[in-house]
Amino acid sequence: MQPNQPPIYFDHNATTRVAPEVLDAMLPFLRDSWGNPSSIYGFGRQLAKPLDAAREKVAALLNAEPREIIFTSGGTESINTAIQSALFTQPQKKHIVTTAVEHSAALKFCAHLKKLGFDITLLPVDSNGQLDLHLLERSVRSDTAIVSAMWANNETGVLFPIQEIAAICRSKHVLFHTDAVQVPGKLKIDAKELGADFLSLSAHKLYAPKGVGLLYVKRGVKYHPYVIGGGQENGRRGGTENVAGIIGFGRAAELAMTHLSDVPRIRALRDKLERGILNSIPGVVRNGSPDKRLPNTSNLSFEGIEAEGILLLLDEQGICASSGSACTSGSLDPSHVLLAMSCDPARARASIRFSLGIYNTEAEVNFVLKQLPPIIAKLRSRSPTSKESQAK
Ligand code: PLP
Repeated sequence: MQPNQPPIYFDHNATTRVAPEVLDAMLPFLRDSWGNPSSIYGFGRQLAKPLDAAREKVAALLNAEPREIIFTSGGTESINTAIQSALFTQPQKKHIVTTAVEHSAALKFCAHLKKLGFDITLLPVDSNGQLDLHLLERSVRSDTAIVSAMWANNETGVLFPIQEIAAICRSKHVLFHTDAVQVPGKLKIDAKELGADFLSLSAHKLYAPKGVGLLYVKRGVKYHPYVIGGGQENGRRGGTENVAGIIGFGRAAELAMTHLSDVPRIRALRDKLERGILNSIPGVVRNGSPDKRLPNTSNLSFEGIEAEGILLLLDEQGICASSGSACTSGSLDPSHVLLAMSCDPARARASIRFSLGIYNTEAEVNFVLKQLPPIIAKLRSRSPTSKESQAK
C-alpha cells in the first residue's frame, strides 16, 4: 500500500472514519467556540444551546427524551456506569447476570466486581451465538441487581432478542442494561418500545470521533454517577464536556437515521463478499447465526491457518479487517466469543471479521474477493497443520 493512500476498510465494527459532515459540524467548536460551558461569561455559556441541540439529536436517534441522555467518554464508561449504578442504588443486591460473549467493557468490569465480592452469572450461548431465554429467566434471583446483555455482538454481529430480554427483566422486576454500541445506523432503535432501563452507545462506531458516548437512563430509574467531580450533566457525570465531540455525536446521530436506508445496499455487499469467499475458497466456515445478525458483519474461519497471517497479508494489499475484537487483536488468544459458541480453539484462532460501512463499494468487495484466495493458498502451503500442505 502506498503511504497516504486511504485503506480499503472492512473494519467498521472496530471504528469508523469521522464523516465529513460530522467534522464540519465540529470544527467551529475547536477553532472558534472553544470555551468551557460551565463558565460564567457568555463565551462559555453560549455553548449550552449547541450542547442541548446535540442532546436532542442523540435522544431522537433513540426515541428517548433529552433528559434521559448522559454524555460519557464512550461505550466502556457507559457500560461500567450502568452496572455500577444498579449496584450502588440497590446496595442489598449483590448479583449480576450477563453473557459470556459481552465486550470486555462488561466482562472485565464484572470480573473486577467479582473480586470485590459480587456474584456474577455468565450466561452461555449456543453454537449460533444465541442465548437460552428460559435459562436467563431462571438465572434472575431476588438479589439480582441488573441483567446486562448486548444487542449486537461486535465480533459475529449476532443479535440477541433484546426486546424479549427486556420484557423478562421487567416481569422479574430487575434492571436491564443493553450494550447497543454496534447498533446505530444498522437497526432502528426505539428506547420507548424496547423498555430497557439503561442503554450504551459510542460515537466512534457511527462516524463521529472517539472518546465520546452516551448512557441512556430511562426516566424514573434510580441512578448513581460513576465519574464523580464537577456538576456537569446535571450532576450525573463529572468532567468538562467534550464539546466538539458531543456536537459531532449529535450530527452523526442525525446521519445514522438516514443511514438506515443504506442498509439493504450494505447487506447485499456483505452477502456478496461472504458468498464469494465461501464459494471460491475451500475449508471456510461462517461463525454465528446466518440470519439473526447485523447486516454489515461477516465472521469466517479459514481452516488450517492463523488469522494473524491472513490479516498481515491483507494489510500488505491495503485491506483492513480484524480478528475478533479489536481490543484483543495483536494477541493470539482465541476469541472468547467464538470459544463460548463451542468453536474449537484452532477454528477460533483462524477467524476473520469483515465489517462493512457506508463508504464501502462493490469495487472494494471485488478487490478483496480477488486478493484473498491466493493469500489463503499461500498461507496453507506454509502451514504445517493445513490439509493442503499435508497433502504435499
Ligand atoms: N461494546 C461493544 C459491543 C463494542 O464494540 C465496543 C467497542 O469496540 C465497546 C463496547 C466499547 O466502546 P468504546 O470503544 O467507546 O469504549
